[in-house]
Amino acid sequence: RAKAAGRDRLAVFDEDMREEAVKILDLEADLRRSINGDGFVAYYQPIVQLDSGRVVGHEALLRWRHERRGLLIPPDFIGLGEDSGLIEAVDWVVYDQVAARLAQGTDGYVSINVSPRHFRSPEFADRLLRLLATHRADPSQLRIEITEVALLDDVPRALRMLRTLRSHGVVAQLDDFGTGYSALSYLHRFPIECLKIDQSFVAGLAGETRPESEAVIRAIQALAGTLGIHTIGEGIETALQRDVLRELGCSHGQGFLFGFPAEAMVQSPERVASH
Ligand code: C2E
Ligand code: MG
Ligand code: MG
Ligand code: MG
Repeated sequence: RAKAAGRDRLAVFDEDMREEAVKILDLEADLRRSINGDGFVAYYQPIVQLDSGRVVGHEALLRWRHERRGLLIPPDFIGLGEDSGLIEAVDWVVYDQVAARLAQGTDGYVSINVSPRHFRSPEFADRLLRLLATHRADPSQLRIEITEVALLDDVPRALRMLRTLRSHGVVAQLDDFGTGYSALSYLHRFPIECLKIDQSFVAGLAGETRPESEAVIRAIQALAGTLGIHTIGEGIETALQRDVLRELGCSHGQGFLFGFPAEAMVQSPERVASH
């Protein structure tokens, strides 16, 4: 009986669900096709020193030039990429472009995003180092951005991976910090260069949420101080956010105030317009 009722319900939603499923399958087929084409492009967003405005590096951010839907950003398709297992292949397209770009010569570093699932793959570190070698790119100009989930998933493996990469010059920074577990007891064990303060706390610096956001940022700064590492404020859009972050001890920042993600990198000694 339950089955029959379920079938009725399915009948009611059938048309909508079918359309939705077709849409997803379409996009998945497009995703698969684009991996071998030139649809995926690395954009670069500058990371600056808050005191001087000097550009110290860039974050590589994935963009998908979809032939019919225009320029897509990760939230439009990354879930699909993860579900279908295609995200790793897409990531390698991005990493390959970044390695090629590094080999052309650039000031500062480029950081790449590594999804937890991808970081879990045992060949990740070796493959990344091989890619850099193939392009003759300097490993010390590459950084990886991972989230805490990736660390805690399998601590011994994460440690091995990070140590291998670090011994070749590739350092790690923790992305979206403050939104995960932020378990203070384990962080000191990992070779982490920097904490990226999640943009929700930076956004919260204006208006009523300011005291809470300030308190979280203060706590992150205290932790970074204890670990002897620095922080990067993410999603800085206003001079006020920049100034408050600086007062709280944050040394570096990234956001629309300093530059949008773009195909071209900003080279130092160029400074960003907001200074
Ligand atoms: P994320 O690593 O935390 O990247 C920062 C996101 O904030 C980017 O979104 C960036 O465009 C956006 N952003 C930068 N400045 C500002 C600002 O001032 N205000 C606001 N509101 N947003 C700002 P994007 O490019 O859409 O990427 C979203 C997420 O997708 C990234 O978050 C990252 O987790 C993931 N991602 C990006 N590129 C890749 C990639 O190549 N591989 C994988 N696996 N994930 C990626
Ligand atoms: Mg990131
Ligand atoms: Mg982030
Ligand atoms: Mg994020």
